[in-house]
Order: sequence, then C-alpha cells, then structure tokens
Amino acid sequence: MSKSYSQLLKDIEGGEIISILLIPKRREVVVEFNNGEKKIIPIFYNDQKILRLSEEYNVPLNVRDHSAEQRLANVITGLGLSLIFILSLSFLIRRSTKLLNNMQSFSRRSSEVNPDDISKITFDDVAGLNAESDELREIVTFLKSPQVLIDLGANAPKGVLLVGPPGTGKTLLARAIAGEANVPFFSISASEFVEMFVGVGASRVRDLFKSAKSKSPCIVFIDEIDSIGRQRGAGIGGGNDEREQTLNQLLTEMDGFTVNSGVIVIAATNRPDVLDKALTRPGRFDRRIDISLPDRNARYKILSVHARTKPLSDSVTLMEWASKTPGFSGADLQNLLNEAAIYAARNDQSKITNQEIDKALEKARFGLLSKPLTDSTKKRQIAYQIIGKTLVALLINSQDKLEKISLFKSLRDISGMTYFTPDEETIDSGLISRSYIYNKIVISLGARAAESIVFGANEVTQGSQKDLEDVYFWANQMVTKFGFSELGPIAFQSDSDSIFLGRDFMKRRKEYSQSTSKEIDKQIILIVNKGINHAIKLLSDKVELMDTLVDELMEKETLDSEYITNKLGSYLSLN
Ligand code: ATP
Repeated sequence: MSKSYSQLLKDIEGGEIISILLIPKRREVVVEFNNGEKKIIPIFYNDQKILRLSEEYNVPLNVRDHSAEQRLANVITGLGLSLIFILSLSFLIRRSTKLLNNMQSFSRRSSEVNPDDISKITFDDVAGLNAESDELREIVTFLKSPQVLIDLGANAPKGVLLVGPPGTGKTLLARAIAGEANVPFFSISASEFVEMFVGVGASRVRDLFKSAKSKSPCIVFIDEIDSIGRQRGAGIGGGNDEREQTLNQLLTEMDGFTVNSGVIVIAATNRPDVLDKALTRPGRFDRRIDISLPDRNARYKILSVHARTKPLSDSVTLMEWASKTPGFSGADLQNLLNEAAIYAARNDQSKITNQEIDKALEKARFGLLSKPLTDSTKKRQIAYQIIGKTLVALLINSQDKLEKISLFKSLRDISGMTYFTPDEETIDSGLISRSYIYNKIVISLGARAAESIVFGANEVTQGSQKDLEDVYFWANQMVTKFGFSELGPIAFQSDSDSIFLGRDFMKRRKEYSQSTSKEIDKQIILIVNKGINHAIKLLSDKVELMDTLVDELMEKETLDSEYITNKLGSYLSLN
C-alpha cells in the first residue's frame, strides 16, 4: 500500500523509519521502514518540514546528488547530436559527389557522340515520297562515290532542311539516305543540346561535329531544329542565351567544314517560318525539301509498306482504307495498322480483317469509345442532335462524305459520333471555298437546330458545345482571314501573326480600329445566325423523318450513311 505524505510525517514522529533518501530533483523521498520495507513518497518542492522532523527525531537523511547523472546525460546527448551531424554531413557530401559525377559523366558523354548502327532502311521503306527521294539520291551518290561529282565540278550540299508536318517520314528519309549510302548516321534532337546544363549545348554541338568528322563520310541528322534555330533575339523578355550560343556554334561548325568534307547535315522541322535566316542562307541549310501529308496513292503505298509484316485477310482492300484516311500522316497510317493488329490479336485471330481496321480508325479519329448511354430521354435528345447534323449534311450536299453515325460516346465528344470523311480534294489542294466553310457551319448547327425544333428553345442542351466552338472558329476565319464576309476581301489577321515563340510580340498590334473590331463581331454573329436559320429551315418539315431515324438509331446504336441516304431518298420521294 502506498503511503501518504501525512502518514510519512506521522511515521517519522513514531520512530517507524530507519532512513530517508531525499531526491530533490524528483521531489520524492525513498523511505526505509523498520520492517525492512522501502517506499517512494512524493514530497513538496523545497520541503523543509521533512528536514526539520528528521533532524528532530534523529532519522538519518541522505540526499542524492544528480549532477553527475546530469553531466552523463549531457555528454550522451552531445555525442548523439554530433553523430547525427556527422551522418548528415557525410550524406550530403555523398550526394553532391554523386551529382558531380553525373555532371562529369554528362560532359564526358557529350564528348562521345556515337553514330547509330548502320541503318538498314532504304528508299524502298519510304513509301509515296518518290520525288523527295529522287532529290536526295545525289547525296547518296556523293556519299558513296564523291569523286564522280567532284570531277564534274559539283559540290555536295552541306545542309538539307526537311520540312513537313509531324510523322510524314522526315527521319525515315534521312535514315534511308544513310542506309542507301551505307554510312554512319548521327542522330540528335536539337532540344537535347540545351536540355540540362547551361553552356553544355555549344560544347555538345562541337563534340557532335568532331565525332562526325572523324567518321566521315556520314550523315548528321538534327531533329526539331526549330528548338535551337529560332530567330535570335526573339524571346519574350530577352532571348535565350543558351539557345543562341548553341545556334551560333552550329553555324560556326557548318562554316568550318570545307565543301565536300563528307559530312552532310540533315535537319528536320515543321516550323520553317520561325528559323533564323542565317540557318537557311547558302552554305548552310540551303537545300530545302518539303514533305506534305500523303495523298491517296501515297497513303496506299505507305499502308502497303507497313502491311508487309502483317497478315491481312483477303477481304481487306488497302486502297479503300487509303480513301478513308485523308489527312493521315505516314506515322498515323502505321499506327492504324498496328492498332488493328492488336485488336486482331486480342480476338485470337490469325489475320487482320476490315473490322479491326475500322475499329482502329474509329479510335484514331475519336479516341477511346465508351459504352452507349442507357435508354433515357437524354439519350433520345442526343440521338436527335446526331440525326439533326446528319440530315443537314445530306440535305446541304456536304463535300465531306458522311460515313456513319453512332450513339457511342467518345472522350472528345459527349454527344455521340457523326462520322465524316474529309473531302479529299480540299485536303490535298489546301483550297477551302466559301461554300465549303459555310456548309460546315450549317451542318455543325444541325444538332442545335434539331433540338430546338423537337424540344423547344428552352429545352436545348449544351451537348453540341463542341460544334458551337467549331462554328465560331470557322465564322471567325471567314471574316478575319479569308475575306468571306460583307466587309470585303480583307485579311485582318494572317497566319504569321501568331505570337508563337514571342517573335514580334512587342511590335504586334491590331491592324484595325475598334469600330472595325465591332464590325467583325457583327459579321461573325450574322454568319452564325444565318447558319442556324438555314439549319432550322432544312429540318423543320422533317420532324417525322427525324423521329423515325431517332427510333432506329436508339435501337441499333449505329447507322451507316447508305441506310440514312436511302431513308431520306424514300422520304423525299413520298413527300
Ligand atoms: P516528326 O516530325 O514527328 O519527328 P517525322 O516526319 O520525322 O516526324 P518519322 O519519324 O520519320 O516522321 O515517321 C514516323 C514513322 O511513320 C516512321 O517510323 C514510319 O514507320 C512511318 N512513316 C512515316 N512516313 C512514312 C512513309 N512515307 N513511308 C513509310 N512509313 C512512313
């Protein structure tokens, strides 16, 4: 049983205690009783009463001195702290040494630019780029037997600039030159020059050319040259010194090697307009080869090249797929067949059929598709939006060919899919007529028109928001760029106006007054209103047909253009 303080005082007076050990630091006493028992009892701070009573009743009182223990504790704490300090210091030193090693290995690495393995790619692997390949054949001749050209007094180009949209085969073409000539191929992306440490870019360029010269004849391929080759002094808030130094070094290197030294630099870009003039002047990248998106024949050839390694079912006609893929680059087409092969493998098929290619095409155009909505009034409303767009497209004789429609939602578009193949001629020629754009606007407004006819102006939804964005984009282009409005043939904006990369950012100003700006807005609104009225006019007497088609779309989830065209045809002949 524990003893209380008052009991302790009584026990001292009663002679029950042999000795007391006072521990002031803990404010307690250890008491030894006559019966041999030992007890710890708390006392008051600076307790005088115990001292007086012990003295009065002759109870021996000892005091425990804690200072030695305290000193030991202090020593231990000190040692612990020093240990922690030493450990953290050694950790920091180890880390910084590692970083230093990395930096050293980075700079070491930069002096060891190695060519890729000799390329096995030849011009046969580059499909649909015959004219471009022919232009480059003389480089192959020069690399293989330079004397032939030198004897004729011809100089090989120092630099070739390949210009074209992403995925059109620029890298492939450069590799094919190296493959045909059987020479080393040094490939580097210009952004790698400036990626890590300031000041490394210029030295990497130096190292690259040093290695290339030691392996001459060879090809040096610089991808994305625009990332270092932009006009100097163009950045917002003062240029990028690192980039400019790298570009200067590249220019110096290109000037440095003599004509016919056997090193040919090929650079690729899809932004030739932003390149520094010094890069494109004679003696540098003076030969330019433009590579455009493939036309139908080229697409067919590219598909055929990539189908060489893929088992296609006999029913697959590649020309048909080439027709359905205007606007696709070589890389897109390769990806299309690759995706189709993956779908076929998933279904345990030994051959790729049209169905897999169709699925891959859908994915390429719309992204991954989710399941159709469960039946509801909202789903029906979406079906009206799709049918509205579809009917307007057919009634207005859209140049883009309607392929099919579906209630499957895509990630890009919440309101199902209306599947058009872009007009081949428009894509190939790059010429867009006023009626083509206007028709696009009316078709895009078909969804909103159908909704407001069937559900009323107050019940329309935001489902066609993406279409409305397209409508604004095209109406704006019509007025501000193409001169397709009542304001006359004036281009208020031009493509090179883009504030891309900060070029001329400071100098940029609107070329027109505020009142013109108001006029532009008015014209855009005028076009959009004309479009929606046109769409409503086309659909307002086709409600019955819309109802039938919506029922069928709800049931089948996908309808093809032939079916819809037939339905429309028989409806029109009946009415
Ligand atoms: P980026 O500008 O994005 O670097 P790029 O123009 O250099 O693209 P590549 O890397 O050459 O394009 O092409 C990517 C892939 O697309 C190639 O590996 C090749 O498989 C395929 N490809 C592109 N064009 C062709 C073509 N004309 N013939 C065959 N395959 C092609």
